[in-house]
Amino acid sequence: MTERVTPLKEAMDLIAASGGRSATLCYQCGLCDAVCPWNRVKDFTVRELVREAQFGLVEIENERIWQCAACGSCPTRCPRGVEIVEILLSVRRIATEHNILPQGVRVARGNLIAEGNPWGGKRKEREAWARGLSVPAFSENAALLYFPCCTQCYEQRTMKSAVATVEILLKAGVDFCLIGREAVCCGESIRKAGEEDVYKRLARENIKTFIDKGVTSILVSSPHCYQSFRKEYPEFRVDFDIIHISQYLLQLIRAGRLEFTRAYAGKVTYHDPCFLGRHNGIYDSPREILREIPGLELVEMADSRVDSLCCGGGAGRVWVETSKAERLSDLRLKQALETEADVLATFCPYCILHFEDSLLRSDDDADIEIRDVTEIIQDVL
Ligand code: SF4
Ligand code: SF4
Repeated sequence: MTERVTPLKEAMDLIAASGGRSATLCYQCGLCDAVCPWNRVKDFTVRELVREAQFGLVEIENERIWQCAACGSCPTRCPRGVEIVEILLSVRRIATEHNILPQGVRVARGNLIAEGNPWGGKRKEREAWARGLSVPAFSENAALLYFPCCTQCYEQRTMKSAVATVEILLKAGVDFCLIGREAVCCGESIRKAGEEDVYKRLARENIKTFIDKGVTSILVSSPHCYQSFRKEYPEFRVDFDIIHISQYLLQLIRAGRLEFTRAYAGKVTYHDPCFLGRHNGIYDSPREILREIPGLELVEMADSRVDSLCCGGGAGRVWVETSKAERLSDLRLKQALETEADVLATFCPYCILHFEDSLLRSDDDADIEIRDVTEIIQDVL
């Protein structure tokens, strides 16, 4: 069913008020379509969506408005500086105000409101993953707060990277602590799914906790937490010192605080997560870490760094089922296999989830491991 929001000026005002002011700049050159990864698996024209947004022909019940994973490719190519992702998010905000949203996002939203995380784990269990580790409890005197993302706290596979991170920090003698059940989701993905109010509620709760507890420096694993804490929370006039684990580990290595006692005899290819690479420009530190590991051979995939192929999990799509024929992570896995690497490594819990799923469903005899870079380091300490 098609719902026409409202024509022309009113529609533009609605979109502008919802965050997509730049739609009028678009002159329909189509460069955005040329780089959008979804065109490798299906017909999807973001140019057309921008056009429809300009003319108030927004079909808010059409599933196309949920396709974009906010990978960040098209805004970098647009010659008119159109904030394409913001326009799409504006349309989603309008849709969610009408209570129109994909079922997976609806479930995640309910979980975020009830338990502060999208996966539905109990809030009081947020730190259960760290049981048995000698993790320092929260202390205002600790130099650094380690903030694992919700996925790492509640999902078994990605939990391994939180455990690896803690073990590495302990080995390096880092003065850090966890914050436990008082933390909630950073809110980045639900915001990109159009639920601005839920995002704001989560952000305010985290900010209050950080301020009340005197937190100033926060170490994050997820590129999505990095994006929200570093680039989006400042909209609330706060300024925390945010560091991604890839930057911090490189500092530890360079300072001689992490000693590799074993070699890693294998070929590794690195996948740039969209919110670490394109959105935040962190391309080198993950590769430099991998190059420091004795015996490890680093190889590049067909699309890397600024051209990295999205796994498909951004902007709330991590909660939405994608049909087998349309999975970007399957294409990425294929690119990794073409390098003949033993390991596809990355630094993002969403990417890990998607690649593991693609590997599990792979028709080929795919002989490759999916690993977070912290798990590789843990093996060689
Ligand atoms: S690249 Fe920019 S100007 Fe060109 S069609 Fe896309 S949004 Fe419009
Ligand atoms: S941000 Fe990425 S996924 Fe979204 S429309 Fe642009 S190229 Fe496509």
